[in-house]
Amino acid sequence: MRIGYGEDIHRLVEGRKLMLGGVELDYHLGEEAHSDGDVLLHATCDAILGAFALGDIGKFFPDSDESTLDMDSKILLITLLQMLGPFKIINFDSVITLEGFKLQSHIQEIRESLSSLLKTDISKISVKAKTNEGLDSLGSGGAISAKVVILLE
Ligand code: MG
Repeated sequence: MRIGYGEDIHRLVEGRKLMLGGVELDYHLGEEAHSDGDVLLHATCDAILGAFALGDIGKFFPDSDESTLDMDSKILLITLLQMLGPFKIINFDSVITLEGFKLQSHIQEIRESLSSLLKTDISKISVKAKTNEGLDSLGSGGAISAKVVILLE
């Protein structure tokens, strides 16, 4: 068994979609990024790569690459999973930090999306949401972050 950890943060700006775990959320701000900026999927990719000690997402999908411009991060994750070949996910746990938007009613949809992308039963997929208690860039609502741990077999 191998454990992996990943985290990501993106600035929140007007005129961008808010993507989280492959789900588009209805909000006036979204992630500023080269790709679609889905922090949860980026942290997931990094956690999986970390478990295999293969580096990080930037090594496989550089943000200098025109082919990944505005790319759907679901494609990044699916491509990565195909590259790595079969493995079993024992469990997945995550924390989203976002201020000014209530994530609670979207958690189930995000878990379902991750369950489908990772081909893992939803009972093994945990998504938790919290605020940053008004502190720093996350607390001012200027950014969104995700942290992921994953146990693989
Ligand atoms: Mg990112």
